[in-house]
Amino acid sequence: MGATDMKYKNRVRSRISNLKDPKNPGLRRNVLAGGIELSHFAIMTAEEMASDELKQLRNDLTKEAIREHQLSKTSGTISDLFQCSKCKKKNCTYNQVQTRSADEPMTTFVLCNECGNRWKFC
Ligand SMILES: [Zn+2]
Repeated sequence: MGATDMKYKNRVRSRISNLKDPKNPGLRRNVLAGGIELSHFAIMTAEEMASDELKQLRNDLTKEAIREHQLSKTSGTISDLFQCSKCKKKNCTYNQVQTRSADEPMTTFVLCNECGNRWKFC
C-alpha cells in the first residue's frame, strides 16, 4: 500500500504542477475544458474510498467468521438434556450464546457428540 500510495501522490502532484506550468498551456486548457485527467482523478479517489469501506466490511465479516468459528469450537457443556433428532442419542454438548442484545433470551446451540449433528434449541 505505502509505495503505491506514494507513487500515486507523486503522480497527482506532478500533474498538478504540470497544470500550473505556464509553458504548457495546452494541458491546462485540456483539463479546464473537461479533459480526461481531472475526471480520472475524481474516479480514482472514489474508488479508493470505496475500497476502504470494502476493507472495513471485509474486516467485520472476518471478525464475525472468527467469532462463529470459535463459537463452534468452544467446548460446551456435555448434557443428556437434549436428544439428537438424527441418531436419537442423548450425548450432546451445548453452548448458550447471547446472540443479539442482553435483554433477549440466550440461544442454545446443541451439538450431538455421536453424529455431529448441530441444531439451535430455543
Ligand atoms: Zn446425533
